[in-house]
Amino acid sequence: MNDLEKQVLDDISLEHPWELIEKFSTMVREHPTDVNRAADVIADRLRGFGVPVTMYEPRLFLSLPRPSSVKAGGKEFRAKAPSMSAIAADGLTAQMVYVAAGHDAEVADDVFDFTSKEVLTKTDVRGKIVITDGFAGPANVAEFEAAGAVGVIAVNLGVDVHWGTCTSIWGSPDLYDLPRKPKIPALAVSRPDGEQLIEMAARGGEATMIADLEEGWYDSKLPVVEIPGSVEPDKFVLLHGHYDSWDVGVGDNATGDATMLEVARVLWNNRSSLRRSVRIAWWPGHSTGRYAGSTWFADEFAIDLDENCVAHINCDSPGCRWATEYKDVSLTAETESFAANVIRDAVDQPLYAERAHQAGDYSFNNIGISGYFMLLSTMPDDLRAAKGYYAVGGAGGNIAWHTENDTLEIADRDILLKDIRIYLLAALRNANVEVLPFDWRATADEFSDVLEKYQAKAGASYDFGKARAAIGSFKAALDGFYSDLQAGKVPAQAANAVIQRLARLLIPVNFTRELRFWHDPALTIPQLPDLSVAVDLADLNDRERGFALTHLTRGQNRLVATLREATRLVEGRAA
Ligand SMILES: [Zn+2]
Repeated sequence: MNDLEKQVLDDISLEHPWELIEKFSTMVREHPTDVNRAADVIADRLRGFGVPVTMYEPRLFLSLPRPSSVKAGGKEFRAKAPSMSAIAADGLTAQMVYVAAGHDAEVADDVFDFTSKEVLTKTDVRGKIVITDGFAGPANVAEFEAAGAVGVIAVNLGVDVHWGTCTSIWGSPDLYDLPRKPKIPALAVSRPDGEQLIEMAARGGEATMIADLEEGWYDSKLPVVEIPGSVEPDKFVLLHGHYDSWDVGVGDNATGDATMLEVARVLWNNRSSLRRSVRIAWWPGHSTGRYAGSTWFADEFAIDLDENCVAHINCDSPGCRWATEYKDVSLTAETESFAANVIRDAVDQPLYAERAHQAGDYSFNNIGISGYFMLLSTMPDDLRAAKGYYAVGGAGGNIAWHTENDTLEIADRDILLKDIRIYLLAALRNANVEVLPFDWRATADEFSDVLEKYQAKAGASYDFGKARAAIGSFKAALDGFYSDLQAGKVPAQAANAVIQRLARLLIPVNFTRELRFWHDPALTIPQLPDLSVAVDLADLNDRERGFALTHLTRGQNRLVATLREATRLVEGRAA
């Protein structure tokens, strides 16, 4: 760390962030009425520090669960309707059928990759309520809906019932998205209750699902702070996280809101030393609108983001109890070495990173913006195993995640302090380094590795030679670029234009199938997704293989054209 970084990090205090966590631990933040009140609390605190706040008020499409239940065998079972479930307020009655999850059910909803096709071909679910294992997520609800089921009851993994969402639509729906809105109701129940339902299903029993929700367009407050840089004020780093939660949501995400509050306070006090600007945004509609707040921001400020955003940093569920490690940390590959240095310098610990999930307010992949962090600190695997915990999608691995147990005891002062240091150093350093710290050779290596994996699976059925050649040329150009940069032969402004533009080209081909400025579904997306069908080629019949090969040719064209443009850019032959 340089002297400025040390001095800025020394300004961190837990006083204000902890006060916000305590305040939020008393405020349910689900319905827009309550959520908007929480935005006012954040804005009040910021103004108290002398930090100017802009309060946007977008209308977001939200789905708000009300008390729901399952009735079967003369009993009533506790249940939660996931956001965006179809509404069955008066009850939907049908025969139950149990369909075991076709995969390890121990996967959180945001990364749910449900492959039940094999099971589904053996079970007729038409006209029935499917009982299945895991979380009520978009992939399983969509699959059972397509197979003709009239409802889905997801049996969670423990004694708690988790809130969640079951739509694959990212943010407020547009006209392309709308057909994917779930048309059948979904509910989540606990494991003990679910086991009773599974037994009843085996005897051909009926159930009544009462899935009550309200949905519509709601005025939603979205506070944003702009901390101006003094050298390149138009360029900005976006630090962001959601402030709505399930129930009082302390670990997910009052701790993140508090982290961003402290980063805003400290950076504002040190704003004269910022090179680029830092924009900090607190999102509504994360839980009940499938990232509707960040998606609105991505849409509303798309052109500014496209032209000026140098990176986004997501802040979700830091500062939770027992979360002493930095592993499974989401990022786009070119940011990994930078992020690892930040964590080492801030808290002297290693980073174990993974490819960014199609989840958690990463609403900027279609524009093409380098991103790092989402969940940051998490509990060690052996501790999780010792506690008998299953995997969840936040709160540092505490299974209080997305339940009424996510209360003040989930927050940890010492871990919060570490995580604030990391977020503050990341934002500060990313705003201040003269040359953007992203290494696109890591992305090129990722492309090579993935392509070879796909080639090995495709065997002689398909030749990725054109893509391999294009990656080779791109790598050679990058080697020249980074060694010239190292030698001081590339002016910083020119280097930054290249580094930023590479994100606009390469993140979309690696993370999206839809066009720029639209939003891909909230479903797991494989690396170089246009080519991923290569993995299945061997299992396809002749007719299916023809479609897949047509698909691969088009996908390879997109990748090759993009890499050739990227190569010209790096060689300095394109503006
Ligand atoms: Zn969260």
